Amino acid sequence: MYDINKVREDFPILQREIYGKPLVYLDNGATTQKPRQVVEAMVDEYYNVNANVHRGVHFLSQQATDLHEASRETVRRFIHARSTSEILFTRGTTESINLLAFTFGEAFVRQGDEILVSTMEHHSNIVPWQMMCERKGATLKVIPMTDNGELQMEAYEELLTERTRLVCCTHVSNVLGTINPVADIIRIAHQHGVPVLIDGAQSVPHMPVDVQVLDCDFFAFSGHKIYGPTGVGVLYGKESWLEKLPPYQGGGEMIKTVKFEKTTYNELPYKFEAGTPDYVATHGLAVALDYVTALGMENIFAHEQQLTLYAMQQMQQIEGMRIFGPADHHDAVISFLVGNIHHLDMGTLLDRLGIAVRTGHHCAEPLMHRLGIEGTVRASFALYNTTDEVDALVAGIRRVQKMF
Ligand code: PLP
Repeated sequence: MYDINKVREDFPILQREIYGKPLVYLDNGATTQKPRQVVEAMVDEYYNVNANVHRGVHFLSQQATDLHEASRETVRRFIHARSTSEILFTRGTTESINLLAFTFGEAFVRQGDEILVSTMEHHSNIVPWQMMCERKGATLKVIPMTDNGELQMEAYEELLTERTRLVCCTHVSNVLGTINPVADIIRIAHQHGVPVLIDGAQSVPHMPVDVQVLDCDFFAFSGHKIYGPTGVGVLYGKESWLEKLPPYQGGGEMIKTVKFEKTTYNELPYKFEAGTPDYVATHGLAVALDYVTALGMENIFAHEQQLTLYAMQQMQQIEGMRIFGPADHHDAVISFLVGNIHHLDMGTLLDRLGIAVRTGHHCAEPLMHRLGIEGTVRASFALYNTTDEVDALVAGIRRVQKMF
């Protein structure tokens, strides 16, 4: 385990007061706070290294390129990919999925084909597939879930047909906290010869991930949800798949040679990285990954599991409390409603107590429809949250309840 008080000192924002109360930041599912190490590394790069990557013979350009490519290696190591050719830098999970939806759609999806997504997907793992299906005349099919927030595996297996081209599923639900049995989902899809994309936006920050052990074909995540900067993310893809996909955007860097008659494309991963990358952000992401690696992803998982369990136990004692999602295999996200109190009222009043939570549909409207609700209040934990903060949340909820 790590020293949480020492860790909190790395995150200056946690010292802030909001409306005269100590900040209790429980909106980590939306974005995490950044440790000094990340911000300072990025400032240092801008002050002392900055030059465009891959294009210069001069010293700074080479130094910036080295940092950028070393970051790719850090990402590779972190998710245990086989090769850096399989690590594509994007702007985030959303862009990673859009990249895949476009390129995979162009290469492999025809009229009448089917794409499977689950009921609990974030809009960014629904809408790009809908757009692609519309373009290609394909159909989006949905893996159902139980009232408890677990995917129905038998129904899933029945949905796999000879027309299924891809399965797209979140590793961890950003609303329910459900940790999905992705290894089984992938194994079953592969038995039918179907590749799988895992949306890792909510898993990578909380648990060790090994893409080779999972055997997923594609895996997407965002830097800003794992203590890194905004504007950078990753699409992992098995080299054998990436080789078969056409480029996404055209421009500099993704080409080998350009002639007006014909352009040839660069090798992996550059074929998918048109234009100047956010090389300062990729460096920031690598520093963030080194930061969590030093603490230990197993330790972070254990800490957050303990915190989530404690929070669930405390919250369940509140009258009228409804917690969504399964009780076990539950990640560091708790979505809830209390009695008839509207989620927006709860969120707004908690904010006056310095407690930052998220309210609404959490970019998962189809899931809200399935649950028959408009929205929830969501508390989501990070490596720096404490049981004192959980106590503050529980006391805050009780206080709001008294006001109604
Ligand atoms: N997928 C899941 C499960 C998420 O929780 C989120 C963000 O909340 C996203 C995708 C989209 O991530 P981004 O906005 O960083 O692209």
